[in-house]
Amino acid sequence: MSLNSKILVIYTGGTIGMMMNKETNALEPFPFEDIYVHLPMLRLVNAEISVKEMLPLIDSSDTTPEFWVRLATLIYDNYNDYDGFVVLHGTDTMAYTASALCFLLENLSKPVILTGSQLPLGVMRTDGRENILNSIEIAAAKKDGKPRVPEVCIYFEDSLFRGNRAYKDNAEHFNAFHSANYPKLAEVGVHIKYNDAFIRSVTDHSLKLHTKMDVNIAILKLYPGITKQAMQSVFNTEGLRAVILETFGSGNAPSKAEFISILEEAVNKGIVIVNVTQCKGGGTVEVGRYGASLLLKKIGVVSGHDITTEAAVAKLMYFLGEGFNNAEVKRYMGISLRGEITV
Ligand code: ASP
Repeated sequence: MSLNSKILVIYTGGTIGMMMNKETNALEPFPFEDIYVHLPMLRLVNAEISVKEMLPLIDSSDTTPEFWVRLATLIYDNYNDYDGFVVLHGTDTMAYTASALCFLLENLSKPVILTGSQLPLGVMRTDGRENILNSIEIAAAKKDGKPRVPEVCIYFEDSLFRGNRAYKDNAEHFNAFHSANYPKLAEVGVHIKYNDAFIRSVTDHSLKLHTKMDVNIAILKLYPGITKQAMQSVFNTEGLRAVILETFGSGNAPSKAEFISILEEAVNKGIVIVNVTQCKGGGTVEVGRYGASLLLKKIGVVSGHDITTEAAVAKLMYFLGEGFNNAEVKRYMGISLRGEITV
């Protein structure tokens, strides 16, 4: 690790810094006044560490696009003063925040590592200690003078994931995150083994901050027996611009005319519908593999490829916030902007 790394730790809330409220017996965030009190071993790390709290501290269930913009702005404002950033964040919506940051911070060339824990730092068996220490070490790591991992990532248990590829799939185990459609960027054991071939490279362009996200989207998860009314209640939402349609398998949906016509009507009304599969592993939309997905394509539903729902939410809000028209949104959903899809 470089002796000269400066790392900014941004504490936003989440289990990692929570303690028990004695009256309610529920976990609530508490102010993280001195990181060295909780983690005295941080003094051994060869990096200068500063901490900023993003107030109010939140349970990440309270995350909003406005919060993402504040966090991205904080990173942007401090970008030139630090070599890397570690964001302490609740695990529940960490994958959404990681996805949002990757779009809001265009041309990012420094590590932004999100981490958290399943057990609060104050608990003896906490996983937070290792998660923070390893995240800081990765954020400070350099190769040939350049940041080792210049992208938005999630670090959890012993794995570093591309932020827009990861998702939380366990509320109990310490390995709470996975990334079924993209390899881990690094694995931590005795050594930190970087998977260089899959890590994005540093760009010469300067960092550009985006600050607009349009929340006029919805997610519609298909299930056998879904009613016309349930579907229409989503598509009739006032101001709706785009819908993530969570389909079956390789992007399939019921082929009944009644079902297809609701979607077709929505597309004709100007709502962008993106086909994202409910399958996590090997989860890519393969239009045309089955007739059921071909019908969707025919009526103008666009393929989300192997994007996660979390990244699709962030990507759509970002495109719509940027003022893209429908044709642009549809076109760019098929292009990998930050490594979020395999095309
Ligand atoms: N509810 C917490 C949060 O997401 C859970 C966690 O941090 O793991 O903020």
